[in-house]
Amino acid sequence: MRTPRVPKLAAALAVAGLGLVAPLAAVPPARPPNVVIILADDMGWGDLGVFGNPTIRTPRLDRMAAEGQKWTSFYVGESVCTPSRAALLTGRLAIRSGLNPVDDERRVFYPDSTGGLPASEITIAEILRARGYATTAIGKWHLGHLPPFLPTAHGFDHYFGIPYSNDMEMIPVPGASFGGEDPKKRERMMNPRPEYWNVPVLRDDKVAERPADQSSITRRYTEEATRFIRENASRPFFLYLAHTMPHMPLFASPEFAGKSRRGRYGDVIEEIDWSVGQVLDTLRALSLDEQTLVVFSSDNGPWSLFDEQGGSAGPLRGAKGATFEGGMRVPTIFRWPGHVVPAVVADMGATMDLLPTLCALAGAPAPRDRILDGVDLSGTLLRGEPSPRQDVLYYRGPKVYALRHGPYKAHFFTKSEYGPDPEVAHDPPLLFNLDEDPGERFDVAARHPDVIAALRRIAAEHARTLGPVENQLTKRASP
Ligand code: MG
Repeated sequence: MRTPRVPKLAAALAVAGLGLVAPLAAVPPARPPNVVIILADDMGWGDLGVFGNPTIRTPRLDRMAAEGQKWTSFYVGESVCTPSRAALLTGRLAIRSGLNPVDDERRVFYPDSTGGLPASEITIAEILRARGYATTAIGKWHLGHLPPFLPTAHGFDHYFGIPYSNDMEMIPVPGASFGGEDPKKRERMMNPRPEYWNVPVLRDDKVAERPADQSSITRRYTEEATRFIRENASRPFFLYLAHTMPHMPLFASPEFAGKSRRGRYGDVIEEIDWSVGQVLDTLRALSLDEQTLVVFSSDNGPWSLFDEQGGSAGPLRGAKGATFEGGMRVPTIFRWPGHVVPAVVADMGATMDLLPTLCALAGAPAPRDRILDGVDLSGTLLRGEPSPRQDVLYYRGPKVYALRHGPYKAHFFTKSEYGPDPEVAHDPPLLFNLDEDPGERFDVAARHPDVIAALRRIAAEHARTLGPVENQLTKRASP
């Protein structure tokens, strides 16, 4: 475990009894860093100014990237909400916790789901709470909404938020057919009002509001977040702020609605940028900048079913729901002034790496009794070392659809994000060099049989690490 630089220096000077300590005297005793994880929902790789968006204004995230590390090859554990979030919080692929979809029918938890993240899983919050952190979850959870599965059962002292997706529980639309594709339902998604949905807001494990007033939800999550920071300024804290937006339906506060050049989607992203600014301003006002690691990312790529109200994956191919880069590579920023070395990092990282990384930074032991799929990125963050992550597995439900090793990515299977078309098996796999061809346009399989053989070996080795697990997504209340 590496002690943060400034406190170590202050301690050394204090021990030496030097008169130099005056400027450092205000440095508090070494304590593990505060951790803030801000997660957007369905935000694409290309939706931030600093990731190249031409019209959405994100000055706070742009500055956060300049002050910290912008990771351009950062991945989620799966390209839809539930398994992605399970992977982030446990440091493990969702197939190990049973939160992987078994088919395309139920890829996430729904209001009639009775499963959730098992108590046997260890979350970042549980690890940090055991290390003395105050912990809170604000926003979307989507790892089970019944009491045994809520944040308060998984290491968070408190929870405030919409426990699953904001488009669930649509109030029945007269004359609309069952299923999501009905034009009347689509009309409501594209021109939403809060009363069209009956989603709850929970406070801890109780319903505090129903239907959720989604038009103010980003602002209220932000107020909860800054209050939590102020109330816990004197001890280590972990804030998991998982915005409901920009998942469809899109809602922005009056201060942001109609203001961006990118339409409703841009309004929502610009409000999230404001929210990030509120969190950073609060940290600065409390002199916590140099004691707080802030991470910003997204749970999966943009939802492409809703035309211009979906986000953008920028130069990447594909979107949420599938295993091309656009579905699984997300815009990610780390900031910790005085500690995280400012850089643009093109090496691979993943949301699953947060758990082992935070264990290292907080001086907490990582779980040893189970397989972790995450790796410790602290060397890259603090010292600019190459990322230790060598591979990325692209799961779709129970199957490894694709695998990246170094610059090469092999697609063994492909399937469109949500269409009814069947899965396509590729033998030989499609092979792309992502460093040279991030848009996955030029298949180089014929030139690299050796690379394909190596990637097949890695996939086979991975398969041997899997054991039987009870699936949680198939559990539902009988109708
Ligand atoms: Mg999502």
